Amino acid sequence: MKPCLYIVVPCYNEESVLPLTVGLFTDKINSLTVNGTISEDSKVLFVNDGSTDNTWGIIREQSEKNSCVIGISLARNYGHQNALLAGLSETVDKCDITISMDCDGQDDINAVDEMIKEYQNGSEIVYGVRKDRKKDSFFKRHSAQFFYRFLAWMGSKVVYNHADYRLMSNVVVKELMNYHEVNMYLRGLIPLLGYKSSSVYYSRTERVAGKTHYPLGKMINLAMDGITSLSIKPLRIIITFGMFITFLCFIGVVWSFVAYFTGNTVEGWASSTCIVCFLGGIQLISIGVVGEYVGKIYMETKNRPRFNIIRRTYSDPE
Ligand code: UDP
Ligand code: MG
Repeated sequence: MKPCLYIVVPCYNEESVLPLTVGLFTDKINSLTVNGTISEDSKVLFVNDGSTDNTWGIIREQSEKNSCVIGISLARNYGHQNALLAGLSETVDKCDITISMDCDGQDDINAVDEMIKEYQNGSEIVYGVRKDRKKDSFFKRHSAQFFYRFLAWMGSKVVYNHADYRLMSNVVVKELMNYHEVNMYLRGLIPLLGYKSSSVYYSRTERVAGKTHYPLGKMINLAMDGITSLSIKPLRIIITFGMFITFLCFIGVVWSFVAYFTGNTVEGWASSTCIVCFLGGIQLISIGVVGEYVGKIYMETKNRPRFNIIRRTYSDPE
């Protein structure tokens, strides 16, 4: 059976971009419908993320003109990740597959065909991965590389060079809706869902118009969100650090004893040093222990599903 596809496109203040890119999305839906890859009720879903310009006007106008264009508008600007999530939640039970994509033409629309092929070959999640970063500035290329490494070291598993261009089956989107956390970093969360996945490689181009909504400050915020929403490793680092400092303190105590007994000290120095070293180590370890519990509480508050059964032998076996 031909799958029904929804392309989910978050848009924020994109009045200069949308008129140029709407055609890319609708042409793709039309050509895939004509060649029989997807069903006729497939659509492009634009999410207006509280734009202050005429973005919503353009979306409405397009949806009146073209039956494969639909839109939703959010009450204010919630940020890219939330806008995307709002769009995905809207697709639940309406389609078989969703593909999320930026509206600025940077994600190569032709990768959609390959993504659908991967889906037909059994992947529930297909990541759009950038072939290279040749088009990026020196700074962006290296900061991005550093970010992916740092994130991996911090315990968040993300797909290298993958942003939010991805295909998800309806099953995955439904599962995603069971994650109720407010700070959601989709790139890190989706690999955690654990479904069969694969990657499709594409070249990312320049924006067709307008400018990025991710200047350095916002990128750093996103990186911080990525780390803190997925991992409690920063808290764990305190305890490791505490142990290291305690070890140094132990050496400090031994040193002050040796200095005391060899008579190289003024009165009161050895005892003060011992106390300072001892307390320093104890305090850091204690903060680390508290951190461990805070981390546990943090993970509990997210109320994530503890497991997800994807197949059963006694119903729909594959
Ligand atoms: N976007 C959004 N809400 C925001 C910021 C961005 O919906 O608060 C959308 C934006 O319209 C675009 C996508 O998210 O479709 C990616 O943003 P952008 O192209 O500015 O980021 P970049 O590609 O430069 O990282
Ligand atoms: Mg962009």
